[in-house]
Amino acid sequence: MKVYRADQLDNLEEADRPAGPSADGLENPVRDILAQIGEDANRDGLLRTPARVAQSLRFLTSGYHQNVDQVLNGALYDVAYDEMVIVKDIEIFSLCEHHLLPFFGRCHVAYIPTKRVIGLSKIPRLVDVFARRLQVQERLTTQIAETLMEKIKPQGVGVVIEAKHLCMIMRGVEKQNSVAITSAMLGVFRDEIETREEFLSLVRSRS
Ligand SMILES: [Zn+2]
Repeated sequence: MKVYRADQLDNLEEADRPAGPSADGLENPVRDILAQIGEDANRDGLLRTPARVAQSLRFLTSGYHQNVDQVLNGALYDVAYDEMVIVKDIEIFSLCEHHLLPFFGRCHVAYIPTKRVIGLSKIPRLVDVFARRLQVQERLTTQIAETLMEKIKPQGVGVVIEAKHLCMIMRGVEKQNSVAITSAMLGVFRDEIETREEFLSLVRSRS
C-alpha cells in the first residue's frame, strides 16, 4: 500500500510526466536564464521550473494562436437597439513587451450598436485574445476598439484600460499605487463629447 499526502501529489504528478521529446522548446532557454542569473538549475526546487515557465509562457501568450472570428463564433445578433452597451471592470492580465513583466488591471468597453449587437460574454474573451500577447497598454487598448469596430460595425466604440505595470512598480520607477490609464475612442465616442462623457462617467462611478 502506498499512502500519499495531498501536498505530495503535485510533485508526484510532475515526476510522472514524460520529459524528453515532448519537452517544450522554451525549456532550455529558461534553464540558461537560471544559470545566467547565478542559480543552480539542477537543485531540487528548480528542476521542474523550466517546464513550468514554458507552460505558463505558452498560456500567457496564447492569444497569438487565437482567431478573433473563432472566438466570436458568430455571436452577432441583429437587434433594434441603439443605446450604449457597456461592459465594465473586465479583468486584464498581460505582459509588457519591454520587460516581459505583467501589467494588470481593468478594462471597460462600450459601444453603440447600429443594428447589430455582440454576445456580452464575448467581449471579455476578445479582450483576452489581445491581452495574452506581448503588449504595450496603448496598443492593447486600440486593438480591442478597432476589432469591435470592424466586427460589429457600431456607431462607435470606447475602450478604457486602467493598469498597474510591475516593470514600473517592482523596479521602483513609479509609486506603488500609480495606475496607467489609456483610452481609445472611435466613431461617435470620438466625435460627440456627450457620448464620450456618458461613457467616462459610468466608468468613473464605482458600483
Ligand atoms: Zn515594461
